[in-house]
Amino acid sequence: MIYKRSSALFAKAEQVIPGGVNSPVRAFKAVGGTPIFVKEAKGAYLYDEDGNTLIDYINSWGPMILGHAYEPVVNAVIDKAKKGTSFGMPTEIETQIAELAVSMVPNIDKIRFVNSGTEACMSAVRLARGYTGKDKIIKFAGCYHGHSDSFLIQAGSGAVTFGSPNSPGVTEGTAKDTLLAKYNDINNVEALIEANKGEIACIIIEPVAGNMGCVPPKNNFLQQLRSLCDAHNILLIFDEVMTGFRLAQGGAQELFNVKADIVCFGKVIGGGLPVGAFAANNAIMNHLAPLGPVYQAGTLSGNPLAMAAGLAMLTELNNDKEIYTRLEEKTAYLHKGLADVLTQLNVTHTINRVGSMISVHFDETEVVDFDTAAKGNNETFKTFFHGMLNNGVYIAPSAFETWFITDALTYEDLDKTIAACHAVFS
Ligand SMILES: *Cc1c(COP(=O)(O)O)cnc(C)c1O
Repeated sequence: MIYKRSSALFAKAEQVIPGGVNSPVRAFKAVGGTPIFVKEAKGAYLYDEDGNTLIDYINSWGPMILGHAYEPVVNAVIDKAKKGTSFGMPTEIETQIAELAVSMVPNIDKIRFVNSGTEACMSAVRLARGYTGKDKIIKFAGCYHGHSDSFLIQAGSGAVTFGSPNSPGVTEGTAKDTLLAKYNDINNVEALIEANKGEIACIIIEPVAGNMGCVPPKNNFLQQLRSLCDAHNILLIFDEVMTGFRLAQGGAQELFNVKADIVCFGKVIGGGLPVGAFAANNAIMNHLAPLGPVYQAGTLSGNPLAMAAGLAMLTELNNDKEIYTRLEEKTAYLHKGLADVLTQLNVTHTINRVGSMISVHFDETEVVDFDTAAKGNNETFKTFFHGMLNNGVYIAPSAFETWFITDALTYEDLDKTIAACHAVFS
């Protein structure tokens, strides 16, 4: 494949945008080479500026669960745009999407819309602190909750891809209130709670981690967290920015039948426009301004275009109950196909999968937390990434990311992807 125009566009971008990108994971730092510039996308395919067609497994890092340029979403945005794009005043559509979200997700009464997953998680933690009157939080190594200061302590995604888990600019004062636990290690969490008795406001977790590859919670791990939180008056925050409306209508809460106190959303809930949200029961949500003392606001929050896209997306997911079954079947098919090829060609690997989240790790150890995720062979990953790309398949340019399967993918696309994997390693 030729990337002449992409390379030229990247060189121009680098002159005026740091690293040429507006979010670090888009750069090819971890795999080498230059990022591909997208011209347009439709369904399961990306069309780049050099005229290449790629089967897309990133899907804007999750939002495009039904494929790119999905017509009901696009039409909803076009119709709305003609009527004005922002007012800074209430609109009916905000209530409509809120009602639908509350009906689809277990254990929430109210939801507040923001503009990104980062904002959702940042606000959820502030709310948890305000509600409990405590300062400290527990997060897990390798989990990513956006780029606000408290979370850049051994965060996943781009923050580990670039080897800067503790970002300069985060003050010691902030860092000291973030306690770091090991994913899937309940004893470790219990010890942290014991050592900081009465000081912990919340535990925030990706109920299925998706920012160190895909790492499922072990048997009962989430239930055990729930029990610990109940016993110690700690709020349990599920960061469902990735898993929300993806693993099931009701996200991980529904899939694992565990109740969170606050749930964060992003990605799918915006249908590809900049949206985040956080939600909880009335008692907790009524603590927010203007009802309560915890301040949170946004000029463009609940923006009509964003709400139109999100509402159209959630409506599709709500109306077609078979979507999640189809996604599960397609991803299981891909899982088996890739595993068979890698085994046949003697490539050391572990594949993790929950629903339509899947990741391939080049190591034989079971991947259960950040340490085991970090063991993967990065040289093999680089070969895999560039090989897949040359065969027309676009996966995330980092080993610390999950793949996102969309309903737009056909079995023919999946077969092509499996064949590409075969071509890369044979
Ligand atoms: C993507 C992501 C975020 C951050 O969302 P942004 O919209 O990028 O700010 C937070 N938490 C999780 C689990 C994510 O996957």
